[in-house]
Amino acid sequence: MRGLRLLITSGPTREFLDPIRFMTNASSGRMGWALARQAIKRGARVTVVSGPSCVPAPKGVEVVRVLTGLDMLREVLARLPGADLVIGAAAVSDWRFAARRAHKIKRGPEPLRLTLIPNPDIIKAVAGRKSSQGRPIVVGFALQTRAGLEAAREKMRRKGLDLVVFNGPSSLGGDRSKASILRRDGWVRSLPEQSKDALARAILAAAEVLL
Ligand code: C5P
Repeated sequence: MRGLRLLITSGPTREFLDPIRFMTNASSGRMGWALARQAIKRGARVTVVSGPSCVPAPKGVEVVRVLTGLDMLREVLARLPGADLVIGAAAVSDWRFAARRAHKIKRGPEPLRLTLIPNPDIIKAVAGRKSSQGRPIVVGFALQTRAGLEAAREKMRRKGLDLVVFNGPSSLGGDRSKASILRRDGWVRSLPEQSKDALARAILAAAEVLL
């Protein structure tokens, strides 16, 4: 991957209700760091746009820290020109609060009704901006609690991805993952449970074929 530029989204996002409270998820950012570490070993220049992760970043990676899904979208689009490969490993919140209150909401006896509105789909936006030469190659994840490969394949088509990595909820947060890698032309590789670094190597090998 020498000479190639990689852009990775990683970690959870935080969607704020007020200055104190936010909605998030269990993503640790480990998969994004593993991808970055392995890509650097292969000689790529790597930028990770990362939501809040307690896990330290590997050496040699440029890290752009963000909090919300909207911030992540903006930072990713700003870095898209010149990227050869984009991997969406972030667990972006699918919704955000319709209104972010300027002050802490006071507790009261009444139920608090909140409205959530959809967040933009970052990896889909990236795939929609591919050049006429088909760059960047775009890889997404499909973490599903039910249904299987067919739903992941449908996600790949709907979002315009070149590869999709299908895994289950047990992958979230931990060090290990059991996944299948699917390619647009029908090629599938089902992998055993393994470390996220080993999975990252398999994902990069599958992407290299398309680069
Ligand atoms: O649709 P779903 O959330 O299952 O898709 C997962 C894939 O899409 C992941 O690669 C994730 O990083 C990406 N995604 C995104 N922006 C969103 C939601 C998901 O980039 N708002």
